[in-house]
Amino acid sequence: MSVRNFIFNKSLRQTSLLRQIRFSSCWSCGKDVKNVEPNLFCGNCNALQQPPRDENYFKIMGVKESYDLDESELAKKYKELQKYLHPDKYANRKKEEQEISEKYSSLVNEAYKTLLEPLNRGIYMLRLQGKEIPEQTEVDQAFLMEIMEKNEEVENAETEKEIMELNAENKAKINSLQKEVSAAFFEGDMKKVIKLLGLMKYYTSIDTQIQLSIRNKGIIR
Ligand SMILES: [Zn+2]
Repeated sequence: MSVRNFIFNKSLRQTSLLRQIRFSSCWSCGKDVKNVEPNLFCGNCNALQQPPRDENYFKIMGVKESYDLDESELAKKYKELQKYLHPDKYANRKKEEQEISEKYSSLVNEAYKTLLEPLNRGIYMLRLQGKEIPEQTEVDQAFLMEIMEKNEEVENAETEKEIMELNAENKAKINSLQKEVSAAFFEGDMKKVIKLLGLMKYYTSIDTQIQLSIRNKGIIR
């Protein structure tokens, strides 16, 4: 690296560092809130801070960035965050803080919902890499027939036993696709990820139908 480049890079680093510090000063008292754990509140005045800018959902939830995430850990983090962020807790606080809690709490809800569900989690991770599942995915006839038949079976299922069997079968399909997606992400094979998520879409839509039917039949699990 040339000396000029070095100086240029160094000043770039300093500018971004300055910007970071400015972003992380407390909106309420102006103190630097860097390194305050759990990073939600100002260590000086205890005001709830703005959600981090430009952070992805994994960072916001404080979980490892991986398709293979631990769903119970995610649920635990979610409960922890909402314990601090729920707008009800800010009813008697400053208006700014009420607004921040609403914004932060709905961001956490959105992040949680997206990461919890295997299809949405995959789509989100693709999007982080600037990729999307095309509207029209190539699937073979036999697969489409299988899906159509399953949809019909769900529609025609009458007893609790029937619907719960279809539910278990479909969940197992999603589960095994989930494992394949995880391996494809691990290998960095985005084409495969896109193809598998395209298939998962069909099973996820069957799942939505099944869950609706379970609710409509008043089945308690
Ligand atoms: Zn403060």
